[in-house]
Amino acid sequence: MNDYKEQLTEAARFIHQNDNFLIVSHVNPDGDTISSSLALAHLLKDLGKSFHLVNQDEIPKRFQFLPLADQIQIMTHMSEKFSAIISVDVADRSRMGAIDSLMYDHTKILNIDHHPTNDHFGDVNLVLPTAAATAEVMYDLAHQLQVHFHRDLATCIYTGLLTDTGGFRYANTSAKVMRIAAELLEYGVSPSKIAEITLETITPGHIQILKIALSKLEIIEDGKIAWTFLEKKDLPAKTLHDETEGIVNYCRNIEGVEVGVFFKETDDQVIKVSLRSKNIIDVGAIAKSFGGGGHARAAGYTFHGSLEEAKSILRHKITKDEGWNHLGNEF
Ligand code: 5GP
Ligand code: MN
Repeated sequence: MNDYKEQLTEAARFIHQNDNFLIVSHVNPDGDTISSSLALAHLLKDLGKSFHLVNQDEIPKRFQFLPLADQIQIMTHMSEKFSAIISVDVADRSRMGAIDSLMYDHTKILNIDHHPTNDHFGDVNLVLPTAAATAEVMYDLAHQLQVHFHRDLATCIYTGLLTDTGGFRYANTSAKVMRIAAELLEYGVSPSKIAEITLETITPGHIQILKIALSKLEIIEDGKIAWTFLEKKDLPAKTLHDETEGIVNYCRNIEGVEVGVFFKETDDQVIKVSLRSKNIIDVGAIAKSFGGGGHARAAGYTFHGSLEEAKSILRHKITKDEGWNHLGNEF
């Protein structure tokens, strides 16, 4: 793997040598993937390049204030094919969704991400696993491209940093993140407004779902695992991934709990599993072993089978993790 500086040079070359880019953010989009893809759109715009923004799914309402968000198209509504794709915050190819119909055989991919589980599926890869957010990589890329910062670009990068660090609270909140965030405020970013819209505001629909999820929450394994689940019948049709975001934190945040889990039945025998850990258990590695991925403290995967199977197999996996026996010793 090339070092980061070389990766930045190659990514900039990819951008300079191509045009008419397709910018792809990940399925079930979150704040970082949307903000980072829009930051990239601003970079390309400022360089005089053309681009289309696409996502397989609908963009959650709370990210629609971001400049250029109105240009993100739903994948299935597109018919054009592209020679140059830039994937953003996408750990493996499958996370782009049903992208094949938008690609030629010769299409080249620039993969920009920060997930340690990224499998470097791109022709060019710009992946910094120590970055708090893909937005942090976008900041570095903006410098590499010598683009001038302005309020819209700064707002996108700031929002990616804010959301992927849980409001500058998670373990990925580094000195570099805080320095970048401080600098971005100089360009007129409104931190209170962005925090209000993206972190504080919850919908009435979310409260209804949360009430059900909390009523089913269970604490097991001597208080070290907390989990809850929602079945298809608990969820209104067409519930966005975003509407259930944050439920897993109620499990993780309980005093004494190391691993929080949220199981969501998305279809018959299809369970989306969200994992969060506090200090020791590498849930990214656990998710990867089930075909998913993510980070050490936040990860996910899709399980094919019943809810009961999903629970018992995962419980076994977590308690067999080598860190499990050391729990309680590192606080
Ligand atoms: P969430 O639980 O909020 O859906 O996801 C938490 C983290 O795990 C995010 O960084 C997300 O990108 C990653 N993640 C969630 N589900 C999957 C999955 O199915 N595959 C991969 N590779 N990553 C996932
Ligand atoms: Mn991210």
